[in-house]
Amino acid sequence: NPPTLKPIPVTAKEGVNPWTQRPYSKRYYEILEKRKNLPVFQHKEEFLKSVESNAVVVLQGETGCGKTTQIPQFLAEAGYAVNGKHIGCTQPRRVAAMSVARRVSDEMDVTLGTEVGYNIRFDDKTTPQTFLKYLTDGMLLREAQTDPELSRYSVIILDEAHERTLSTDILFGLMKEIMGRRKDLKLIVMSATLDAEKFQAYFDNAPLLQIPGRMHPVQVFYVSEPERDYLQAAIHTVVQIHTLEEPGDILLFLTGEEEIEDACNKITAEIEGYGTGLGDDEIPQAVVLPLYSSLPPNQQDRIFEDAPPPRRPGGKPGRKIIVATNIAETSLTIDGIVYVVDPGFSKQKVYNPRIRVESLLPSPISQASAKQRAGRAGRTRPGKCYRLYTEKAYNTELQPNTYPEILRSNLSSVVLQLVKIGIRDLVHFDYMDPPAPETLMRALEELNYLGALDDNGTLTELGGRMAEFPLDPQMSKFIMEGVKFNCSSEALSIVAMLNVPVVFMRPRDHAREADDAKNRFAHADGDHLTLLNVYHAWKLKEKEERNWAYNNFLNERNLRNADNVRGQLVRIMNRLRQPINSGDFASRDYYINIRKALTAGFFMQVAHLERSGHYLTVKDNQSVSPHPSTTITGRPVWLVYSEFVLTKKNFIRTITEIKPEWLLELAPTYYDMENFPPGETRTALEQLIKEREKSGRRKN
Ligand code: ADP
Ligand code: MG
Repeated sequence: NPPTLKPIPVTAKEGVNPWTQRPYSKRYYEILEKRKNLPVFQHKEEFLKSVESNAVVVLQGETGCGKTTQIPQFLAEAGYAVNGKHIGCTQPRRVAAMSVARRVSDEMDVTLGTEVGYNIRFDDKTTPQTFLKYLTDGMLLREAQTDPELSRYSVIILDEAHERTLSTDILFGLMKEIMGRRKDLKLIVMSATLDAEKFQAYFDNAPLLQIPGRMHPVQVFYVSEPERDYLQAAIHTVVQIHTLEEPGDILLFLTGEEEIEDACNKITAEIEGYGTGLGDDEIPQAVVLPLYSSLPPNQQDRIFEDAPPPRRPGGKPGRKIIVATNIAETSLTIDGIVYVVDPGFSKQKVYNPRIRVESLLPSPISQASAKQRAGRAGRTRPGKCYRLYTEKAYNTELQPNTYPEILRSNLSSVVLQLVKIGIRDLVHFDYMDPPAPETLMRALEELNYLGALDDNGTLTELGGRMAEFPLDPQMSKFIMEGVKFNCSSEALSIVAMLNVPVVFMRPRDHAREADDAKNRFAHADGDHLTLLNVYHAWKLKEKEERNWAYNNFLNERNLRNADNVRGQLVRIMNRLRQPINSGDFASRDYYINIRKALTAGFFMQVAHLERSGHYLTVKDNQSVSPHPSTTITGRPVWLVYSEFVLTKKNFIRTITEIKPEWLLELAPTYYDMENFPPGETRTALEQLIKEREKSGRRKN
């Protein structure tokens, strides 16, 4: 039976903003004209009717047709956000949530953070007034922990469903369960690709509304031979387009921050190297703009600014060149793009449950992704897409579709959240694509080792607390153990530093000085302690010495971020009534306690130095090397690590020396010799156990 809720449209006097009761600004009307031209605008009535008579509606429409910005507004105007009820619209990416919320508050002529807000991990820009909220899918999943019925929402929009991120996939199943109980809740599933039938089928044949696109043709070019160095080829192609092709902005897809910043610098340098040219040979102006997730918001917005003007009246118009991660594939639409350069890679999660390593790796994209990327060139007029791979590679090497993330992720964090929400049977949960049983087993096993789940898979008190932190379970365990070891304050600082991008800056032309600066903070026992030193030093100095961070080759913005993250973790601690404690700095045990707490969290990430001189990871026996960035100078026999970096050579990054007896004491189940694989690690631990027994007997 269709739900009975009949929303009452929000009305106001002509020229008055119904949300604020203030007259509309001039800018409101300017943007409104643009909004009216978006393809979704023609389907407003049809869409609202469909929502009124169905619990679930699937909406499919080309990227840029207005789904993310308009649909939530239609719903708000139709009255779905009255009586304190909210409209929530999820985004897989933080930047998209922020950017779209800013845009929509402009469109609605309200201040960001009041009626319209966003909520992403460690950044909540909402107030009690907020009724339209853009949030990451991960944050909505988190909200379900404290509000399992999502009771404050009248409508949930799962946007970018085609991306099939882990959190969105879990939310599909969760929404199905919740909607079984809450007949008044509406769900809109929005997708940019044509595989919408899959969503329809999953949601019991929900109706599909398709917004016809207005795409211009895009000519696709391939390279004839595989490119050995795609970055170099990409830069070259962009510069060629800029110097030879007709006006129109360029979008280049790369995989991550470092690569993008590097490419931006090189493109700018090459274009400047050409000079300005003269007459018909004039080289137009170019602004080269990066776009990636850790870019500060004010810089993110620059991608929406107009391209620069001609160098002289009547000259060739300037060009905007955007170098972006996958975020520009479907999450954000930049108008004016005519040329797309697609090297064929994006950073993707890969997970190997056998060796328990999850990594973000630049990997070949799918054909579906390649098509989306090409589509970005045909938004405003016919465009061109340069694929830096061969046509044969496209046809034979690229997968038709990207695998859902749930099939290539470590699930321990999500499993902990689901158990906390109250989902008991994880095997029979209604997954759109069920994860591999081995991956699910691994997750349950890890949570059991961490003490978050008991042997029956029931949430323990510790597990309940751990689930409150928006962190990897090993990190929240570290914090909780910090309380026991009288160092939760330090644990929070270290975790905060681990959750922001690297704070150490190392400009190529000042590498030596940068290394010297870093060494002044170095702690001989490990990088976690070095990070703590940096944080402490910055807190002490930031107020008394201007540019202290910069002068010490530290990234001030990331330090501030870490401080903000720490503040939020402190609030969670307070809510959980957990003490924030700290030992005597002069005591011998000060650092030992921190290292013990760290070990109690990360005992599944330990490497042992073998007689051959190589490190092997404990139990999984992967050959690894300490990352060159470490501040540890020697070769300690036992190391705990925060990150496994999968490359040709496997590195462990952010490492700290530990004592093997701590492993036996703090993680007896994991280090139970009964089921420990044979090898030097086991021999060493058995030796240690024997010695301890002997000395124990002597003492008695
Ligand atoms: P979809 O979700 O269907 O991909 P969006 O709702 O994100 O489409 O975008 C609709 C239109 O709004 C696009 O043409 C885009 O260029 C425009 N737009 C979105 N954000 C901004 C912004 N910050 N500044 C200017 N235009 C924007
Ligand atoms: Mg969108």
